Amino acid sequence: MTAKIAKFTTEQMIDMVGLFSPCMDDYLYVCDFKEDYYQISPGAVNRFLLPSDHFHEVEKVHKQFVYPEDLDMLLVELELLGQGKKTFHNLHYRWIGHDREPIWINCRGRVLNDPDGTPHYLVGCINEIGAKQKADNVSGLLGEFSLGIYYANYVPNLPDGFLLRLGLDEFRDINESHGNEYGDYILRKTAQCIERNIRSGQKLFRIVADEFAVVDFVGGTIEDARELYRNIKLSILDFIEENKYKAVYTVSGGIVDNRCIEDSYESAMKMSEFALGQAKKQGKNSCHVFDAKEYETYLKGRQLLRVLHHAVNHDFEGFEVYFQPLVGASDGRLSGAEALLRFHGENDRMVSPGEFIPILEESGLIIPVGRWALRQAVDACKEWQKYLPEFKVNVNLSYVQVLKSRVLSDIKGIIEEFGVRPSSVCIELTESGYLEESMHFDKVWNGLKDYGILLALDDFGTGYSNLHCLSDLQPAYIKMDRSFMVKALSREYEYRLLVHTVDMAHSLGLHVCMEGIETKEELAKAREAEPDYIQGFLFGRPCSRAEFNRKFFGEETA
Ligand code: C2E
Ligand code: MG
Ligand code: MG
Repeated sequence: MTAKIAKFTTEQMIDMVGLFSPCMDDYLYVCDFKEDYYQISPGAVNRFLLPSDHFHEVEKVHKQFVYPEDLDMLLVELELLGQGKKTFHNLHYRWIGHDREPIWINCRGRVLNDPDGTPHYLVGCINEIGAKQKADNVSGLLGEFSLGIYYANYVPNLPDGFLLRLGLDEFRDINESHGNEYGDYILRKTAQCIERNIRSGQKLFRIVADEFAVVDFVGGTIEDARELYRNIKLSILDFIEENKYKAVYTVSGGIVDNRCIEDSYESAMKMSEFALGQAKKQGKNSCHVFDAKEYETYLKGRQLLRVLHHAVNHDFEGFEVYFQPLVGASDGRLSGAEALLRFHGENDRMVSPGEFIPILEESGLIIPVGRWALRQAVDACKEWQKYLPEFKVNVNLSYVQVLKSRVLSDIKGIIEEFGVRPSSVCIELTESGYLEESMHFDKVWNGLKDYGILLALDDFGTGYSNLHCLSDLQPAYIKMDRSFMVKALSREYEYRLLVHTVDMAHSLGLHVCMEGIETKEELAKAREAEPDYIQGFLFGRPCSRAEFNRKFFGEETA
């Protein structure tokens, strides 16, 4: 392609940039090679790290806002254009935004020559290729970006009404089993099912992948939102039937009252995402109304996660391992201890394991923390074996550690490092997380057993008390949970169940430890059922290593 002859003056072209810019989202520009001058739509200054919408020393100034890795490529291109070796410019590269993050752009332009054939101008347009779509051709709806603009018209005083965020529950399965094109069809049909039910004044948008948002700025109540959700579900059921059950799926919904939304579109998105997440957590195919208290608890959890993360990265500062004695049921003599994690959080607040263990598990941080706790426990065990050679330490293991880390080699490594017998360590795993079909789980469990480590099934009596699980796993111990013990020690039926469970465990060659024994009366009754070990406040609460030392071995320091 040969370059055109420039018919306009620089001023005329700059005027044209100014004239057309308000009519478009893209950015027009003129680069004058002869004057070494550059002019771009004023809006670009708000988006990119440009010093101004016009400047001299084109190359030098570009260095300020072009992503460094892409700069050489651009300079080579500008040189070719300026020398007339190229007449059309079409480059994908990155500029830098105000947050210093790269923004992908497509810069296109054409060279205009002077009548003597020398290049004078490069005129063109820049558009963001990674920009959010305003509309979505799959569903035929406006997209998330447009939703933001719609909110911006009203913020900070949103009219009464609600935001209903809808998410398909099994969209990935549909894509996987029928292909993406069919997935698009389902999205389009779902959009139609929603659209059919919204009333005048309400607006529908498609947001991320398989989610939609119905915005009501016309005074709809929470009850209206719930009814809308129910009607949408009915329409989807009709569609599934018409579609001959080729794809069977459900939707969940998160509802936010506009009055809860603080001041921005961003908070509306976060709150509705949270409400939808809750609906999915509660089993999907249902809707959940945003609750400020619940959200606060969730945010506190996020904050606690940050604190835990910081602690893990700072040598486990704030974590401590406590020890609770386990005693022989018949003679009350110390046989070992269970290692129990503690965490001193912000302002030295003692956070309970019930609060921080689930967060450690969800985030995967239980992997390093669990490994650290095991080291502390084995270290203490080694010390206490000086006084009581048969002393054993029990350590809780999370299923996250089993499934997502090299837990078998970690445990073996720690045992070898401290030089204790494998049978000095008892690993406790809860019954509730038992995965019947997992080959990986079996490998870890059998690996631990073969190595000589003792295994205990924790929390027995709280879950299914799955006999199948007992025969599959054949642990060395079962630990009867306190909640079950409390019932058994006060109710005849549960007590008989307890006695039979102990008998059955013994007949299978397993030992039984009863947890949560607090009083002498409880102990007397528990003993009649003939367990092997007892753990409970009556014999000692969980305490620090130093205190355990003092209490049981008469030593001052650990
Ligand atoms: P668990 O493994 O069943 O531990 C026994 C829990 O019962 C401990 O609670 C202990 O303090 C409590 N307990 C013992 N005797 C009595 C009693 O007589 N009365 C009452 N009311 N409670 C008693 P804790 O320390 O709060 O730990 C709670 C749970 O947190 C543990 O239950 C365990 O599932 C988990 N956990 C603790 N440390 C760790 C750890 O290092 N790793 C993992 N994965 N989980 C841990
Ligand atoms: Mg335990
Ligand atoms: Mg337990």
